[in-house]
Amino acid sequence: MNIVLATRNRDKIREIAKILDGLMVEISSALDFSGLEEVEEDGVTLEENAAKKAIVANKFTNKLAIADDSGLEVDSLEGRPGVYSARFAGEGATYDNNNKKLLKLMEYVPPKNRTARFVCVVAIADEGKIKKIIRGTCEGIIAFEPKGKTGFGYDPLFIIPEYNKTFAELGPEIKNKISHRAKAFLETKKFLVEMYSENGINVLEKIFKAF
Ligand code: IMP
Repeated sequence: MNIVLATRNRDKIREIAKILDGLMVEISSALDFSGLEEVEEDGVTLEENAAKKAIVANKFTNKLAIADDSGLEVDSLEGRPGVYSARFAGEGATYDNNNKKLLKLMEYVPPKNRTARFVCVVAIADEGKIKKIIRGTCEGIIAFEPKGKTGFGYDPLFIIPEYNKTFAELGPEIKNKISHRAKAFLETKKFLVEMYSENGINVLEKIFKAF
């Protein structure tokens, strides 16, 4: 069985491949298909963007396609940057630009009001149709300054209260167990097992080891 991850973001491909590890499937990504169009993420929800990316990748590659769209919702900013997380500081913004903008906007927000969550929405498309939409969330607190060196995006600013450390300090081992993406993709893994067991396809025999 072949699955295509509808993303060119190497950070995400690395994280997702780790989470899906154990599935008896061959995983490729948008990086392996040079003609696959870059989808404009113009939806107003994470669901819309994920579904659009999954359908485009499925139709182009004829493989089961998995797309995710993710973002950071900050309560004191009424859920911003949300679906606009990648370009919070403008088109072409770097992770650093976005983090600086977030810190600036939250300069005077006291600790108790710095609650936020990462959200990851996964869309699974096959045979030209959306088969499933899955949402994973991870609650945290926005720090006053960046800390830690691993991960990407807003990781240095996102504190997990149980550890009192940012995702960038916790490292991939822990992040990939508790993150929004981990939760959404573990559900995705379960869905794939169920879907393919129903069809009587026995390609996922080793999968249960991974749970
Ligand atoms: P995308 O549209 O799903 O590629 O992601 C949108 C943006 O959300 C990324 O560019 C990051 O800034 C942010 N983001 C999503 N997931 C994470 C994460 O796990 N850590 C840090 N930032 C993230």
